[in-house]
Amino acid sequence: MADLTIHDLIIIGSGPGGLTAGIYAQRAALHTVLIEKGVPGGQLNNTDTIENWPGTKSIQGTALAEAMAEHARSCGLEILNREVLEVEPGLDAHTVRLDDGSELHALAVILACGGHPRQLGIPGETENYGKGVSYCAVCDGFFFRGKQVVVVGGGDSALEESLFLAKISKEVHIVHRRDTFRAGMILQKRIRSEPRVILHMDSVVTAITADDSGVTGVELKNVQNAATHHLDADGVFVFIGFEPNKKLVPAGVKMNTDGFVVTNEKCETNIPGFYVIGDLREKYVKQIVTAAAEGCTAAQVVARYVEDRKARERIT
Ligand code: NAP
Repeated sequence: MADLTIHDLIIIGSGPGGLTAGIYAQRAALHTVLIEKGVPGGQLNNTDTIENWPGTKSIQGTALAEAMAEHARSCGLEILNREVLEVEPGLDAHTVRLDDGSELHALAVILACGGHPRQLGIPGETENYGKGVSYCAVCDGFFFRGKQVVVVGGGDSALEESLFLAKISKEVHIVHRRDTFRAGMILQKRIRSEPRVILHMDSVVTAITADDSGVTGVELKNVQNAATHHLDADGVFVFIGFEPNKKLVPAGVKMNTDGFVVTNEKCETNIPGFYVIGDLREKYVKQIVTAAAEGCTAAQVVARYVEDRKARERIT
């Protein structure tokens, strides 16, 4: 049966963005529920060590996730452990349908479902995630200081992250499946003049090898002549694109051609009372601090939106 209570705010997703939104919503006295289908923390739970969260030199991803969730709960935030199946925007209130058949309603919804790095889908990739396989050079590059790493991809991310890794690592081997890069010319020029970067064009990684202590290298295949060889490496960084988790984005919400939701500076979408924060949002930098900052922004914007609507429509 439908729950006819109208919340001020429903937050969907409990990564750093969603949890920060929850903390700020509680502090703004908004009647809020956060819905999460898994363990609170989002991608934090897949990150080994975090060394760029200000004020904390080093912390396990799972520990930071639990600390954020605990902080949010201590502010009185209700965290509902359910899967959201659908979000339907409405003029009076938005409807959120859950996997147990129930419905919740709210004046505002913040969608914070994030996304996930595109994977190669090759042997050794999933098994060695966090043990040498990474999708974030800013997060994990430091662990490969003075070591040999492989970067897969030929777009802006792959080349930009390779330049970052070249400052830390002994050698960066870029593996790209074509003979020309997709990345912009400036990045290509910089990459070609970087002595620590070695290019393997027209090549793909067919497997990642490892022993008990982590990644040991990759199997390479040249797509032109089918020649194969092994390349020793301590780390493999995969930058072949990022997939937004856009399943819950309602029809009519403006997205860019890559499936990221277009919002303004206040994290407002083109639908009143519907906000998107974190990695699902079109933006330049995808980091824990930016997601948290957007959670703060959106919650404060929602507080003003809800206050205005209640005053205008005499909602209690
Ligand atoms: P991207 O531009 O989609 O590039 C992905 C790269 O990975 C391409 O070179 C692609 O090869 C390769 N690739 C895709 N699937 C693959 C597979 N299964 N196996 C091997 N290689 C595969 O992704 P991105 O670099 O993450 O960039 C995403 C967007 O953000 C782009 O619009 C980009 O311009 C932007 N961005 C901008 C900046 C900047 O302006 N500084 C920095 C980062 C990202 P092909 O080329 O053969 O398709």
